[in-house]
Amino acid sequence: MKLLLDSTRCQGYGLCQEPAPELIELDDWGYAGLSATEVPPRGEDAAEAAVAACPNSALRLVK
Ligand code: SF4
Repeated sequence: MKLLLDSTRCQGYGLCQEPAPELIELDDWGYAGLSATEVPPRGEDAAEAAVAACPNSALRLVK
């Protein structure tokens, strides 16, 4: 499973990082960046929570 970020949609709400701190980092302005795109099995729940938390649909998971 891969976590993908469309940076053009990210508005810097920062809501995605809390459920998935191992996968997502925020810059000084709150915009998301991916620490990892390949999601380990133990991180799948966190990745799904991060996708659900984003109000701008900037994150998605692909298998
Ligand atoms: S919740 Fe969405 S819009 Fe906000 S920082 Fe994360 S990816 Fe960007």
